[in-house]
Amino acid sequence: MSRKLFSFPGGIHPPENKLQSLSIPIQAVPLPSKLILPLQQHIGAPAKTIISAGESVKKGQCLAEAQGFVSAAVHAPTSGTVVEIADHEIPHASGLTGLCIILQPDQKDQWIERQGIADIRNIEPTELVNIIRQSGIAGMGGAGFPTSVKLSPPADANIKTLIINAVECEPYITSDDVLMRERAAGVIQGVLILTHILQNQQSLVAIEDNKPDAIAAMQEALAQLNEPHNIEIVVIPTRYPSGGEKQLIQNLTGIEVPAGKPPLHVGIVVQNTATTYAIHRAIEHGEPLISRIVTLTGNALKQPGNYEALLGTPIEHLLEQAQLDQHQLSRLIMGGPMMGFALESANAPVVKTTNCLLAANREEYPEPEPANPCIRCGACAEVCPASLLPQQLFWFSMGGELDKAEQYNLADCIECGACSYVCPSHIPLVQYYRATKGELAKRNADLKQSDHARDRFEFRELRLAQEKAAKDAKRKARADASAKAQAAKKAAAELEAKNNPEGSGQSEGKGDSAASDSDIVKAALARVEAKKKAQAEAAASQTATNESTSQPETQDRS
Ligand code: SF4
Ligand code: SF4
Repeated sequence: MSRKLFSFPGGIHPPENKLQSLSIPIQAVPLPSKLILPLQQHIGAPAKTIISAGESVKKGQCLAEAQGFVSAAVHAPTSGTVVEIADHEIPHASGLTGLCIILQPDQKDQWIERQGIADIRNIEPTELVNIIRQSGIAGMGGAGFPTSVKLSPPADANIKTLIINAVECEPYITSDDVLMRERAAGVIQGVLILTHILQNQQSLVAIEDNKPDAIAAMQEALAQLNEPHNIEIVVIPTRYPSGGEKQLIQNLTGIEVPAGKPPLHVGIVVQNTATTYAIHRAIEHGEPLISRIVTLTGNALKQPGNYEALLGTPIEHLLEQAQLDQHQLSRLIMGGPMMGFALESANAPVVKTTNCLLAANREEYPEPEPANPCIRCGACAEVCPASLLPQQLFWFSMGGELDKAEQYNLADCIECGACSYVCPSHIPLVQYYRATKGELAKRNADLKQSDHARDRFEFRELRLAQEKAAKDAKRKARADASAKAQAAKKAAAELEAKNNPEGSGQSEGKGDSAASDSDIVKAALARVEAKKKAQAEAAASQTATNESTSQPETQDRS
């Protein structure tokens, strides 16, 4: 019995344009003369280099380690020499540069020693997650979120469902499709590993119904499994953007992930197909993430197809393999036509998230029509899969009303471009949303920084107040001790005066008159006289005693 499916709001059916790249099997790519490996190919902190320029490295050797929890390592895709660690153009919408390791291949393609795990059943999930982390795996569907983080849910997350997102709903892209057609068994092994890690009750592999060959291959691979499993291949209707994480969850389970919350919040983890395959290679073959399948497509290519490229391969090298006709090229896009971004040049390298390069000609990707005023037709809201109000978000973005944009859940916009696609006024809505999201991120970072500065100031004030209070307390304790000593001294003097009334004038101090001073001197002299007299009398008495007691002793000796 087939699984009951649900639906998600909105969605569109743009031309698929997938057949162009599906006519040939996955192609290998000859080694380029250099590989450019950005230290940041993922969301989070950039990796930290652990090698220096001039060092020889082997294929699979770690070149840069993950730095912090949300980060991913970078490995050598082949053996060779690190010739430079320097800024280089990276694939980015703004044509940014980033710190990269430049590796010159030695053409030997020599691996490090690899050790895979044949049977994971007795291996602790945390150990497997650690291998995934050390293998530098990050979401290969385009997001680039470090996979080990997704696989380390809080203890109380109670993950019930694992979803493998094999939907690949974006037009033109077929890299996951061919991966499933040609390496289905590896993908299924990856699902088993993930299930062992998450201990989830069910694993759903979701594939759109426009990929019959991939569906057949995956079902066949599943049928070949001779161990108990909880995996189900679920075929869903083709509709863009059914591969959006929250849309897919709703489609498969009917559960709506609340705004601003991750799927973990509802006990679900979603992983991409290529990422799942990379997990299989890392665990069972001991291979870090060093290559990926890239769809090369578009009318400017004579040989479109899917190519297995080493990470760091210059995009221009890849385009050569697909026989780019420079005269035809109008726009080079990384990703698909809906969510991808235009590259300013082909000097940037393939990275972990490069699932597609679209070399479009003018007919295929014409210059955008000039934008006209919004006519408030509401078409954008009808297709929005996140149930947002794109028209309102557009006004807020135009007016720089960041708080309003935030209140209207701009953060939930998955930048699918469905709204722009249907807008009769040709307003590039997504571009506005991206810009506003960037401003919001900057503002929130600034706020965080000023909060941090305020916290530091308040902490300093508190510390100074505490230090002052401590000093005051010490000062008071000293004053109290001194007062007590004075009182004790006074009490002792009074006692002495009571016991020795004659000398009491002494303790009265210098405040007495000259006459009393003279009395004091007299009394002192009298005391000295009396003492001398007493000593003389004592000496005389001792002499008499000695004389009377010495007689018998003398007798005894004689
Ligand atoms: S689709 Fe375009 S014109 Fe229509 S309401 Fe939305 S933004 Fe305005
Ligand atoms: S780009 Fe954002 S606002 Fe537009 S349809 Fe997609 S999710 Fe909705």
